[in-house]
Amino acid sequence: MGSQEGSSAITIGVLALQGAFNEHVQLLREAAQILATKDIIQRTWTFKEIRNKPELDSCDALIIPGGESTAISLVAQRCNMLEPLRDFVKVIRKPTWGTCAGLILLAEAANATKKGGQELIGGLDVRVNRNHFGRQIESFQADLNLPFLQQADGKDFDTSQKPFRAIFIRAPIVEKVLPHVSGAQTGQASLDETVTAPSRTIDENVAKGIKLADVEIMATLPGRAAAVQDDKKEKLDAEAGDIIAVRQANVFGTSFHPELTGDPRIHVWWLEQVSEAVDRRRALAAETAES
Ligand code: GLN
Repeated sequence: MGSQEGSSAITIGVLALQGAFNEHVQLLREAAQILATKDIIQRTWTFKEIRNKPELDSCDALIIPGGESTAISLVAQRCNMLEPLRDFVKVIRKPTWGTCAGLILLAEAANATKKGGQELIGGLDVRVNRNHFGRQIESFQADLNLPFLQQADGKDFDTSQKPFRAIFIRAPIVEKVLPHVSGAQTGQASLDETVTAPSRTIDENVAKGIKLADVEIMATLPGRAAAVQDDKKEKLDAEAGDIIAVRQANVFGTSFHPELTGDPRIHVWWLEQVSEAVDRRRALAAETAES
């Protein structure tokens, strides 16, 4: 698909229409450096900002950054990027990670959104609540334990004990994990102020290598009252926890902004996931070409 099939090179794009794309590129570079110096993965990585379809076509994987999801979707629509993005995520199913606004765009349904006010890409069978934490406490930081980081093949890269300091800025949460349906999440579309992504069918060759698994909850934010670390603390129910990271096959979403912390651990983990996914995809392409 335009990317460097059969080689050890991987090209990762960061959608650069609006928001914190530059920070992702910086942290990806740092993460690749860690993988190389710790001898965890030896590959040639290229990280680039993506603004149009030819650039997107050259990528093996994509990050959609935080920013303002309405603005990103509007710009994407104006520069004819919405359909290429839907193809990338839902038809050819290349690994994609959305942070904050990026998570909203990757959701199949989003509420607190005016009808017609926002287009979604989709790819994650979840309903997100935009601006979940509201206006009163628009941003906060919280120390998270992210169990998936411990599964990273980190060798002597310490992914284990230290909590991940996460920054939430008018952050969404996943308020509902939806059953996977073969079309659009039309049941959700009838809810007030809720928009849904249009359905797209996975490419049949790609489908041989990718199982459209259920949504996995990768992290929750426990007891917000305890986690909120500013003096605007109000009486919050300390209920079991908001879902703030999910994965479904190779689509990953986080409510918070790892790119603003300078902590590269999630980027390291994600590059490892991408590396495996690209190897699987290339092996499958080679098999298909032989048969
Ligand atoms: N709430 C914002 C939106 O709707 C996302 C905020 C962010 O990315 N920091 O897009």
